[in-house]
Amino acid sequence: IFIGMVAGIITGVLLKWSFDDSGDLAFSVFGTTVSTYDVLVNGIFNVIGQIFINSLKMLIVPLVFVSLVCGVANLSEPSKLGRLGGKSVLLYISTTAIAITIAMIAALIVKPGSGIPIPTDAVFAAKEAPTLAAVIIDIFPSNPFLAFTEGKMLQVIAFAVLFGLAMAMVGDAGKRVAALFEDLNAVIMKLVTILMNLAPYGVFALLAKLFTTIDEGRIASLAIYFVLVFAVLIFHFLVNYSIILKLLTGLNPKFLFLKMREAIIFAFSTASSSATLPVTLETATKKLGVGKSVASFVVPLGSTINMDGTAIMQGVATVFIAQVYGIDLSTSDMLMVVLTATLASIGTAGVPGVGTLMLSMVLVQVGLPVEGVALILGVDRLLDMTRTAVNITGDCMVSCVVAKSENELDESVYYDLNAGDAYE
Ligand code: ASP
Repeated sequence: IFIGMVAGIITGVLLKWSFDDSGDLAFSVFGTTVSTYDVLVNGIFNVIGQIFINSLKMLIVPLVFVSLVCGVANLSEPSKLGRLGGKSVLLYISTTAIAITIAMIAALIVKPGSGIPIPTDAVFAAKEAPTLAAVIIDIFPSNPFLAFTEGKMLQVIAFAVLFGLAMAMVGDAGKRVAALFEDLNAVIMKLVTILMNLAPYGVFALLAKLFTTIDEGRIASLAIYFVLVFAVLIFHFLVNYSIILKLLTGLNPKFLFLKMREAIIFAFSTASSSATLPVTLETATKKLGVGKSVASFVVPLGSTINMDGTAIMQGVATVFIAQVYGIDLSTSDMLMVVLTATLASIGTAGVPGVGTLMLSMVLVQVGLPVEGVALILGVDRLLDMTRTAVNITGDCMVSCVVAKSENELDESVYYDLNAGDAYE
């Protein structure tokens, strides 16, 4: 997978250079002119990449539903579920709040927006921020099948939890259904394994396409913003996660980072924490030693409600846009940013680019011009990929903390660098 990533990036960069230098090489097939760019970038890379992403997405709903039902049905004491939920939500929300606060402070110090001209022709439609009541109501599906088809993860989680709890209460019938779910789980895990074995090609295709189409000119014009978001992402990843993990569990964070490598490459090439979920779940259980009943609940929950990386982008971007438009943000405005960004991340699925949509909600809340989003869209993709990697690392870090506090972390697995490496 690593080789796929590096080869994809190199291929993309080389192709971009050659297209920039000598234009698109066209050749003729049976009298029709065909462009190399179309064949390679829009054709081969695009098709393989999209099939890979679709296949990952295909697994999300069945995987989360089946593994969570098994996890809940196997819980030694159902009351544990409330504790697990409480701890994870608390940790997810506080890490997100820390992330966005640091991001805003960094942006206030560095001032990435000074000297950037206000865009004149930008149009951007804002989305309204959800209310807390709407977020809570939306956790409960009125129709579970609709939740499945629309991939509404919090609703799938809620239904799986209720279903699993009922199974545990119903005696023999519950045991028979549980046996069926265990078998289904084995089949779905096999599908995940097959996909993991094909992943190098998918990763290669996605990155080759991306790096062929990247617009480095735009990145250069917003270099300070770009580097600042990137730096805060790395800081949160390396420093904050290390401190939180060490303080709350005493575990050596080095092992967390080493074991996240594969999931990080997935997150980086797909820019979607939802699509990466099958791999994040595997990483948590097989490599980090998080107990299945904890991981099957905490990790999917994190893939929707925990977006530290996204919050960092929103923090820097809000201050950046305020600076470009010459608007001063008051302390209460900034608190509003923290609140809206954290709340917005709860109900939003981790898909590419959704962070910019959430940013528009934040801007509306504090009365900043929504057109400001247009300023950063051109450089968002690379940052999106990086923040997705941070988002999923946060999910795994929190799952380790929760598992440790519940005595569900197998430290011999956590400290074994070869654990879970064979995909068989
Ligand atoms: N792509 C991010 C994710 O899936 C969300 C975002 O920041 O746009 O986690």
